[in-house]
Amino acid sequence: MTEFTPQPSCATTEPVTTLRVEEARQRILQQITSISCWRKVALRDALGQVLHKDVISPLSVPPHANSAMDGYALRGKDLQNLSISLKLIGSAFAGRPFDKSVNAGECVRIMTGAMMPDGCDTVIMQEQAEVHDDLITLHGEHHAGENVRLAGEDIQAGAVVLRAGHRIIPADLGLLASLGLAEVSVRRRIRVAFFSTGDELRSVGEALSPGDIYDSNRYTLYAMLKRLDAEIIDMGVVTDTPDAIRTALVEATREADVVITSGGVSVGEADYVKQLLEELGEVNFWKIAMKPGRPLAYGKITDTHFFGLPGNPVSVMVTFYQFVQPALNKLAGAINQAPLILQAIAAEKIRKRPGRFEFQRGFLRNNNDNHLEVTMTGEQGSGILHSMSHANCFILLDEDCDGIAPGQSVTVQPFAGLI
Ligand code: AMP
Ligand code: MG
Repeated sequence: MTEFTPQPSCATTEPVTTLRVEEARQRILQQITSISCWRKVALRDALGQVLHKDVISPLSVPPHANSAMDGYALRGKDLQNLSISLKLIGSAFAGRPFDKSVNAGECVRIMTGAMMPDGCDTVIMQEQAEVHDDLITLHGEHHAGENVRLAGEDIQAGAVVLRAGHRIIPADLGLLASLGLAEVSVRRRIRVAFFSTGDELRSVGEALSPGDIYDSNRYTLYAMLKRLDAEIIDMGVVTDTPDAIRTALVEATREADVVITSGGVSVGEADYVKQLLEELGEVNFWKIAMKPGRPLAYGKITDTHFFGLPGNPVSVMVTFYQFVQPALNKLAGAINQAPLILQAIAAEKIRKRPGRFEFQRGFLRNNNDNHLEVTMTGEQGSGILHSMSHANCFILLDEDCDGIAPGQSVTVQPFAGLI
């Protein structure tokens, strides 16, 4: 990483701008280029990491045609005879193939997963066959090719099985193992440093004096970053003085790809933080037409991306998921999946004033008629973290919305896949 050098003349002196949520997200994403470093890791260590390049299958899965049933393998052509009796000439087990050819009028006892013997293309279930010594008689109707899994039916050799930018999930570890791959190429992890600002903040384990509160933002930030598999640098609480914040910022930008702070960006409080950030880099202060989380600072200090999130605990989480997470995904080289958006019935009245886009916290469930229904999770203030803890979705209320009546349809963004 390049050494920190203050950039005196590139300060952004434009006044605080009001932006819509999508506009702010796009402005941020435009500034982000994915890191290019990558490395090979052992298959198990790849869980949660981002694929550097497409995975091409070195083999077909399954590698050979095999039986889908316990039964008898035979030549499909033999089924054309009206009454079929076949001579049993041997057995095939999974991992222990029958090593001779099967001719007209012959069959082989075969188990599920066993390789199809040479000459056979059909398996008759054992329940549809009668055995007398070494003679097999078939019942019912059959057709050539039944009960056989074809070679390459799951994956063809040379096919792209996973795309670059895919974040590896548990099924992928199995998929990659089924291809015999012991190592995977992944992007290097992104390094994210964060600290909280505020003289009132104490860390867990410390005693509270009058007027103090515990710092919760560093814990939610830690957890949200952990889910993104980032390398985390927790710099603790930094007191509300220009010198302390300057020192912390300089150190953080030296170490990290991204610096996230919480608190100190609201009007009234932001003055010296703003001045400081303008002196150190190129940072924009935005008023976002959203609730919670109106103030947001985003920019760059040397090569490091900077996010100044609001101080209120729910605002931190909402702004993280709406702005920081897509940006970190892009930086990490991960494909940003469009979040799942659903319609649900409001089970109760939802209060809202027109003006800002609101992210209220809700609980989504299937009601007795098996329709999706959403309830609120209590008080919606930006400091009420329990409404977030009890929620499983955001209720999305656009700028013009002036409230939702019970029974009305409302847009929700489930946490599944988002958080
Ligand atoms: P600020 O944006 O610094 O004005 O903070 C807004 C509100 O969030 C104030 O009530 C702060 O006490 C609170 N707050 C700020 N940072 C934290 C934090 N790290 N943990 C919990 N509450 C915080
Ligand atoms: Mg503060």
